[in-house]
Amino acid sequence: MPAYLCLAHRRPSRASCSDCGAPVCADCAVEAGGAPLCRECANRDHDLASLRSEGMEARLMLRRAGVRVRRVAGDPLIVRSGGMPVAFVVIVLTATLTATVAVLLAGAAESWGVSVALLGIVAAAVIGSGVRLLFGGTSTTAGVLAALLALTAVTLGSSLAQLDVASSGVVVAWRHLPGPPALDRATFAACYVLAAALAYRGAAGRRVR
Ligand SMILES: [Zn+2]
Ligand SMILES: [Zn+2]
Repeated sequence: MPAYLCLAHRRPSRASCSDCGAPVCADCAVEAGGAPLCRECANRDHDLASLRSEGMEARLMLRRAGVRVRRVAGDPLIVRSGGMPVAFVVIVLTATLTATVAVLLAGAAESWGVSVALLGIVAAAVIGSGVRLLFGGTSTTAGVLAALLALTAVTLGSSLAQLDVASSGVVVAWRHLPGPPALDRATFAACYVLAAALAYRGAAGRRVR
């Protein structure tokens, strides 16, 4: 390969910019991942990188404010800044949230004589907001997670409501018919769908047009 003149320094050079191919000398070559870049290409890459990170910051700000924006690859799932480790938040806190809601649902259904599925609609809204708080903002992933958790909580709550618990706290038997009035299948299914939708909406955020 013949030597070319570096345009910036008028100095012969055998190296060339790995992007645009312009000859670069030792003084103007900028190392980027082991390959030399000329100053212009390095600056442009830098500008692109900062544009991308500004874009991500803007999306995160919107998600923290509860607005639903498309997540771009590389954006964090959990938008709380300086948040807790992902696995901890997702597993421990959401499991606690779901179990707590299920127990509350069963208890409320028992004392008010209302179906768990009906109460679950209210609980789902709570779960949606809860997951949104845990994630520190909105995201589609959080929405799907919230919907699944709401369905789990209602199902779990329904099962708990059917447990016949002795005063000692020992589970005696499964009651065949729960105390609260049973809903017909269609109403029951509608409650589930509504609960999932509310939970999703709470955690995924409002879509802006
Ligand atoms: Zn270049
Ligand atoms: Zn040069």
